[in-house]
Amino acid sequence: MILKLIENYWKKVARGGPDECWPWTGARTLGGYGQISSGTRHHNKIARALATHIALAIDGRSRPSARHVAMHSCDRPGCVNPAHLAWGLPVENMRDMWTKQRAGHQRKAAAAMDSAAAELAVRTARNHKLSDEDVREIRASTERTCDLARRFDVSWTLIDNVRRRKARAEVPDFVGTSNVDDIGRVSRETA
Ligand SMILES: [Zn+2]
Repeated sequence: MILKLIENYWKKVARGGPDECWPWTGARTLGGYGQISSGTRHHNKIARALATHIALAIDGRSRPSARHVAMHSCDRPGCVNPAHLAWGLPVENMRDMWTKQRAGHQRKAAAAMDSAAAELAVRTARNHKLSDEDVREIRASTERTCDLARRFDVSWTLIDNVRRRKARAEVPDFVGTSNVDDIGRVSRETA
């Protein structure tokens, strides 16, 4: 299965020279990142992996944690040349973008920001799809945020906010009750 994935992966890479960008020719996310079916199923949906993550894994650099994201030194989300990729935490990614912006890469960084903003806007629009029942299920669940996000097809941020009652606070935990007191208690506990 892994071999098949790697084989499929290379079919979609326009491999160039060692220093050039290697554009991904397959499917892309809204933000322009390459994605590939991982060949596994997750809650009856075919699980997809980011091409950059596969690129790093093939290069012998497995993901340090689920919070890590693949960062591009070339600022091209579709590039999968491992020489242009590194693992980083989102905060480093933002700092990195900001530093580059200050160094005179305004246009590129703005484009990257735009695609991130566009992805966020679409995500936000989709986020309204969560039913009250979904909200209760998310709050009661012990699944990881990333798994829930994938399952409900919403952002990690929304899952996190739903869990912390920062989003959809109006939805009671139990049908037929109001949990205004609960919300107060929960926010005091987490404060
Ligand atoms: Zn590149």
